[in-house]
Amino acid sequence: MKIAILSRNPRLYSTRRLVEAGEKRGHEVDVIDTMHCYMDITSSSPSVRYNGEPLPKYDAIIPRIGASVTFYGTAVVRQFEMMGTYSINESVAISRSRDKLRSLQLMSRKGLGLPKTGFANRPDKIGDLLKNVGGAPVVIKLLEGTQGIGVVLAETNKTAESIIEAFMGLDANILVQEYIEEAGGADIRCLVVGGKVIAAMKRQGAEGEFRSNLHRGGTASLVKLTPEERRTAVDAAKVMGLNMCGVDILRSNNGPLIMEVNSSPGLEGIETATGKDVAEMIIQHIEKSASTGNTKTKGKG
Ligand code: ADP
Repeated sequence: MKIAILSRNPRLYSTRRLVEAGEKRGHEVDVIDTMHCYMDITSSSPSVRYNGEPLPKYDAIIPRIGASVTFYGTAVVRQFEMMGTYSINESVAISRSRDKLRSLQLMSRKGLGLPKTGFANRPDKIGDLLKNVGGAPVVIKLLEGTQGIGVVLAETNKTAESIIEAFMGLDANILVQEYIEEAGGADIRCLVVGGKVIAAMKRQGAEGEFRSNLHRGGTASLVKLTPEERRTAVDAAKVMGLNMCGVDILRSNNGPLIMEVNSSPGLEGIETATGKDVAEMIIQHIEKSASTGNTKTKGKG
């Protein structure tokens, strides 16, 4: 097969591993910089141009779209879908997952376990908003944040009110969430590919840090999932419509709670923690799923 990885940087671990795994399995793999793709979006025969030439016909693409380039990146993925190219994650699903609020609403609609979460646009009823999620301690999150930036733990209602007011004063969109203390500064990252959890790791925040992000000094280790955790991760991927994603779960006294679903999960942490060849499993899934013309939306979303 001819596979393209849409990535801004061929040197990134995940990109390199996917190229390696694809080539090992006998495929031709190109890395295409998403932001350098351009296209005539009104042409009756859709194509994507790159470096002055139309790109060849790929059987499959693996979009690795950074949060900051979601808007343009998903337009490029949509163009590939219109050409009948299989994308492991479709553009609509990527856009959906990038909106934290929309993702939580969709998962809540399907009855999946989530931390109690509130959202408001105006600072006038903050007290009620806080009461609704159970009061302090609460976690306040910037909707546009990634890698733990803009995720704040407020220990008292007074602190929470000040932080919310400050964020709202800056016109930042935030959500307010019950703090799951019993998770102990740890979360579980489940990698779901093709409706199955193919690898999972526990991430533990550094000493004195409630955020477990590896970028913030967290450490990863192997974890055994309960059947309920496995089911939760698979259900979350299904609701979001993602064939490949990282589902982050908090272990609470009321069972697994989904924190986030990530459509471009990094491979380094999880391959290192589990010793599994995750990249190869992703390529194998593409081999099973990619036959020209079988994208669900064909760019319709
Ligand atoms: P980001 O997308 O920026 O990584 P997250 O929502 O995943 O933001 O939060 C970062 C980290 O903070 C999580 O990995 C988790 O360890 C911790 N965390 C987030 N929300 C909660 C919560 N409601 N209760 C306890 N810990 C939380």
